[in-house]
Amino acid sequence: MANPLFDTLFGHHVGQDTVFLQMPDGSTLTHSAFLDMVGRFANAFADMGLKPGDRLALQAKKSPQSLAVYAAAVQSGIIFLPLNTGYTAAEVSYFVENSGARLLICDPVNAGGLQAAADSVGAALQTLGADGTGSLPDRASRLSGQFETASRRADDLAAFLYTSGTTGRSKGAMLTQTNLLSNAQTLVEAWRFTRNDVLLHALPIFHTHGLFVATNIQLLTGGSMIFLPKFDVETVIDVLPRATSMMGVPTFYTRLMDDPRFTQDLVSHMRLFISGSAPLLAETHVQFETRTGHRILERYGMTETNMNTSNPYDGVRRAGTVGFPLPGVELKITDPATGATLPDGDIGQIEVRGDNVFKGYWQMPEKTREELREDGFFITGDLGLIDDQGYVQIVGRNKDLIISGGYNIYPKEIEALLDDQPGVLESAVIGVPHPDFGETVVGFLVPQKDQQPDVKQIESAACTQLARFKHPRKLIILTELPRNTMGKVQKNVLRDDYGGLFS
Ligand code: ATP
Ligand code: MG
Repeated sequence: MANPLFDTLFGHHVGQDTVFLQMPDGSTLTHSAFLDMVGRFANAFADMGLKPGDRLALQAKKSPQSLAVYAAAVQSGIIFLPLNTGYTAAEVSYFVENSGARLLICDPVNAGGLQAAADSVGAALQTLGADGTGSLPDRASRLSGQFETASRRADDLAAFLYTSGTTGRSKGAMLTQTNLLSNAQTLVEAWRFTRNDVLLHALPIFHTHGLFVATNIQLLTGGSMIFLPKFDVETVIDVLPRATSMMGVPTFYTRLMDDPRFTQDLVSHMRLFISGSAPLLAETHVQFETRTGHRILERYGMTETNMNTSNPYDGVRRAGTVGFPLPGVELKITDPATGATLPDGDIGQIEVRGDNVFKGYWQMPEKTREELREDGFFITGDLGLIDDQGYVQIVGRNKDLIISGGYNIYPKEIEALLDDQPGVLESAVIGVPHPDFGETVVGFLVPQKDQQPDVKQIESAACTQLARFKHPRKLIILTELPRNTMGKVQKNVLRDDYGGLFS
């Protein structure tokens, strides 16, 4: 009887009194206490009649208990479906129904609104609150912490992880035990994680970054995590002296740099800062180094593939790039029209293949066929190039490409120019339908604190520096860009709001 994912991540910690989680209040949870809770939850699931291969959906606040639900699902051979805590009842109902989940675990405050949804698809409903109490832990407390681990094969499904929905409706990526395990093993080596690492964990655990990248690495090595319910500058600055490493989205790093207490002294002991999930501006990378002496290590991944590329641990971490394909990951740049591989330096679609790549989208066979080639290459939907030193650079998403008068326009080129203008903090550029050109360029500017960028001046700078077809037709000032919880700019929201400008 074996269960490769459970045995490798969790099983070897049974009975170990080493610290797994450090909570912000200073309390700790050992590996063995965590695994005892996991065993109880697994027994509770079995009691409710759940079997290997069933689905379990979880929408709960981040806590040791909600992390234990993940582990208990793996131990039971149940497919785990973590859901964004921001989803409404209607959205959660969709995911429960779409996945055919047999059990929905939700926050007690949402139980009233979700009971009907669970009933309508015959799913059981249990609760789990931010403080770790609820009907699930109640039930589990009466059960044994010993559970006979369900036997699973390496190619059995471990999770349906829904994509962030940045470019459209979220899709359920079917991930196998091997997808998760192989990537965690690769990352431990690439980033030199050991059991001595204390990872500052302020990411949500319903997304691949916080759930799989961060957590699986620490479980594999036996290191510990400072487990924060959310990113909060005060708390992060408070606990940083205890950490050795940190993973974050770019906004974590810009927000830390906004605080005068975030100094070289505060982080001189740190081993590693990692960034991903959204592009880290080259400027942020440079400012961070000037401020702290550390070079952020930027990597690139996605729900469907786990991590694909990374800047090197040893060697130059280059601003504005996502580094090299990880060991075991093949990466090529292809022509979107023909699928032919393009020479280095040319912009095309990024395709990846390896043990990290998912099995397809749950109940979306057509979408799966469109994006996952028969030879195993996955068309990521991102556009990029491989530069003359082999580093991968992402220039944007295929869906954000602007085609105006037959010309391809990469928003990032225009955004880089706008970001450099006086008084501009950041920018976003989208294509808006236009009767003559098909699409035309519209730019959004977010001013720096207490600044009012001179739009006329910026327009003329754009006109002198960019070819005519790339000139923004309109520049609009916004107080902030629409972003999701992972710090991703939601260009679809901008397109929806401003799509009618020229029609
Ligand atoms: P959806 O697929 O539903 O539209 P999504 O693609 O945003 O949502 P995720 O799987 O969470 O959902 O995000 C993966 C995407 O995040 C990648 O395809 C890429 O566009 C972006 N990304 C991740 N890391 C980086 C990075 N370092 N630089 C630039 N983009 C990144
Ligand atoms: Mg995507």
